[in-house]
Amino acid sequence: MSNSQAARDIDTSRPHSARMYDYYLGGKDHFDVDKLAAERVAEAYPAIFVCARENRAFMHRATRVLAREHGIRQWLDIGTGIPTEPNLHQVAQSVVPDARVVYADNDPLVLKYAERLMRSTSEGRTTYIEADVNDPQSLLDAPELAEVLDLGRPVALSLNALMHFVTDAQDPYGIVRRLLDVVPSGSALALSHCTPDFDPATWQKVTDIYTSAGTPVQFRSRADVARFFDGLDLLEPGVAVGHRWRPDAAEGDAPTDAEVSLWTGVGIKP
Ligand code: SAH
Repeated sequence: MSNSQAARDIDTSRPHSARMYDYYLGGKDHFDVDKLAAERVAEAYPAIFVCARENRAFMHRATRVLAREHGIRQWLDIGTGIPTEPNLHQVAQSVVPDARVVYADNDPLVLKYAERLMRSTSEGRTTYIEADVNDPQSLLDAPELAEVLDLGRPVALSLNALMHFVTDAQDPYGIVRRLLDVVPSGSALALSHCTPDFDPATWQKVTDIYTSAGTPVQFRSRADVARFFDGLDLLEPGVAVGHRWRPDAAEGDAPTDAEVSLWTGVGIKP
């Protein structure tokens, strides 16, 4: 990264999950410390690049399905990550030009690039909030959120590759409930989450790398990921491995479940 102002403002002494993920996606917005940690993950789990790509592809498909088939016009995307085209609002606005999207992340580096998330259609609207999902009330109380989202109408809560950064001690299920409590019937939860189910030894190594880098993680089983959808009507095919959730027409060889290692799903609030 060449931006010396960013280098002064941002903690480059330890790796950050958003910047490691940017490396997995082939982006340029990370520092050497992130690249080193990401390369250690890739050594333990060479398919991390497949996982990141399939995670992004799930977000695209889930967003389109919600816009096309479930009348969703507003999204709250928490743990947005460093902008990567197409961003969620670009996918949503390609279906419904007046879509409104609130983005939130707790990594200050994401804020640096947030203007890329603001290139909305003129009919739609986007904004960015620096917020921690562990404090859902502050996020919900942010004035920017009220300016963009009408909480009287359905909202899709988009939590992609986020909740594995919230350990059980931090009450992940309570946090998601709290967020879903403030949105009306017809709202949605779209969620993806890394899992050790298909290769526990590898995922233990990945857990150790993140934890020793100062980022606690908790990768969860299918049953534990399914719990996030308790009380919601799961869309077909239910909680599925990322590339199996409503795939587009197949191009090339499909990855294996172990390569993808992501549980994904979309539920609608009754
Ligand atoms: N949702 C994007 C990016 C996933 S990477 C996608 O699926 O493509 C995970 C993101 O979650 C990172 O940007 C990281 O900064 C953010 N994150 C991690 N813990 C968080 C927390 N407690 N609150 C808000 N964001 C968090």
